[in-house]
Amino acid sequence: MNTKSKSRKRLEKCGIKPSLQRMAVMDYLLEHKMHPTADMIFSSLQPSIPTLSKTTVYNTVKLLAENGAILAINIDEKNQRFDGDISQHAHFLCKICGKIYDMPIAGLQISHSENCTENFLITETQIYYKGFCKKCK
Ligand SMILES: [Zn+2]
Ligand SMILES: [Zn+2]
Repeated sequence: MNTKSKSRKRLEKCGIKPSLQRMAVMDYLLEHKMHPTADMIFSSLQPSIPTLSKTTVYNTVKLLAENGAILAINIDEKNQRFDGDISQHAHFLCKICGKIYDMPIAGLQISHSENCTENFLITETQIYYKGFCKKCK
């Protein structure tokens, strides 16, 4: 499946009307795995979509994240980052170069002794690690 039809499917599955601009943002996030900020998405897409505004990109990533089509990552206090990979994985932020790396996680489970499953319905889990990457350490 190419990225275009993947994007359309993802948006439709999340109940989002696939407009041209939403598709472009979704395409970009599926193709670029470096967890870009909304500004980075805007500067990369603007040359090919001159009518695109920064506000549209900000509203689009917000809409996509709220509906579960993408992940909003808050590991970096200065900039919210976005991820087209919505499968369960953790993130590692390098405190020197600011790059965010994906980290696989397996068998993540919280203790059921505190009645967690009774009292809380978990809809989202985010795991963040911080440190120094191979290049910076
Ligand atoms: Zn680094
Ligand atoms: Zn990721």
